[in-house]
Amino acid sequence: MMKFKVFSASVRHESHSFCILPGDLASFQEYDGYKRDDEIPKAFCGTRTEWGAIFDLADEFGWQVVHPLDAITMVTGPVTRDAYEHFSDIILPALRRATPVHGLLLPLHGAMLTEHVDDAEGELLRRIREIVGTTIPIAVTLDLHGNIGPAMAQHANIVSTYRTTPHVDMYETAERAGRLLQRAMKGETRPTVAYAQGRMFDALDQGRTISGKGPMVDILARAKAILASEPNILDIGINAGFDWSDKANVGPSVLVTGEGRNPRYQQVADELIDFAWQTRKMKTIKLLSLDEAMLIAREPADGKGPLLIGDYTDCPAGGGLGDGTNLLKAMIDAGVKDAALGAISDPAAAAEARKAGVGATVTLHLGGKFDPRFGGKPIEVTGKVLAVSDGNAVRKGPFATGTIAAFGPSCLVQFGTVKVIIASVRNQIDDREQFRIFGVDPERVNVLACKAMNHFRADFEKISRRLIYVDSGGITSFDWKRYPFKKVRRPVWPLDDI
Ligand SMILES: [Zn+2]
Repeated sequence: MMKFKVFSASVRHESHSFCILPGDLASFQEYDGYKRDDEIPKAFCGTRTEWGAIFDLADEFGWQVVHPLDAITMVTGPVTRDAYEHFSDIILPALRRATPVHGLLLPLHGAMLTEHVDDAEGELLRRIREIVGTTIPIAVTLDLHGNIGPAMAQHANIVSTYRTTPHVDMYETAERAGRLLQRAMKGETRPTVAYAQGRMFDALDQGRTISGKGPMVDILARAKAILASEPNILDIGINAGFDWSDKANVGPSVLVTGEGRNPRYQQVADELIDFAWQTRKMKTIKLLSLDEAMLIAREPADGKGPLLIGDYTDCPAGGGLGDGTNLLKAMIDAGVKDAALGAISDPAAAAEARKAGVGATVTLHLGGKFDPRFGGKPIEVTGKVLAVSDGNAVRKGPFATGTIAAFGPSCLVQFGTVKVIIASVRNQIDDREQFRIFGVDPERVNVLACKAMNHFRADFEKISRRLIYVDSGGITSFDWKRYPFKKVRRPVWPLDDI
């Protein structure tokens, strides 16, 4: 069997145009210490991630994989020109050195926006295509929150997108793309990609699938039926989009990968995007006010497991600052019994409490420092330090299983009835291990508040008695008209009446 040389590189970012934290090199370095060459298999072999699948496929097919870069950071404002060009300057020379290659498999996110390039993934693909020419197959995997422009369809031969939110199919997505790439490298197929985008963002319920209902679930079922009945169609990527990105191509898109060229692929893409338009107003979640949420939190427990509160608008994985204090203050003021909250990002407060040590009583000027306009100002609180940790939790739940969720040097402090994780690295809650490393058993807490939107549901919802979401005044609200969009294509729903 012919042994193929496959080039893989990954830069993944979801850019929130209205978040003031910069997507600079320091941010990538701090969040995941962007990885080079041999560090990549060391970190990801055996994990349920795109890289985990790529290395398994390499074993199965005998690929020689060239893998110069894996870079990811938490959601921030646009990626800086420096960071983007630095990553491009790692990838492109490595590709030139590796050439000739038989194919490329690129795990991207799809919602990256930079200071100088709106369609950051499209531009990266354009540069890559310039090096490898038009005949080498390029396969791309996408997070379903990507805001995809037409350049993706122009430069890629295969696009596979996650089909779950929480994203528990990173591995399966790359496996699908990789198997198609293998067939393309063998010359069995010559795939092309058709693309469609609608006149809206904030549709497809932001891609949620976990409840088993809603427009994202329905559109995926339609795509599945088409894939089952039309063998020329190789994959269908449904991208719900990431709505807080001020760029022309924000919002849902459909990418249909098919064998050869066929007008049918465009027709399928158009039909599916029309379905996204028709169902745009359907949502499976509702955000409560803090008052409404505290009323529920004070009720006696009426079932097994904690009441789960998602602090939706201050979740770092959506661009939330992660240091908002409004929910914590409401919980302390309400005297919510036996509660825990993860996590307030505040490096200075974390360092101060860690210095005082376990058992010490500390008064902290906590949170609200990144951008006090959103999610609550700093609060003065006194409490006892219960635990300290290096903040590294190895995920055991279904989301990114086997990878490390990092809070940096961090601690757990009890304020009134609420135990609070104070982190030095901005991160969401998406795995129960993130509480367990501080000695908190999530199953035994009465009220568990998480700075989280979607992914935590994979590991927490099943142990909770109920899930509610709150709008604590953070930066990722559904109140679209308060965001100063400038570059979005117009007219677009819901900014304009169409
Ligand atoms: Zn996503």
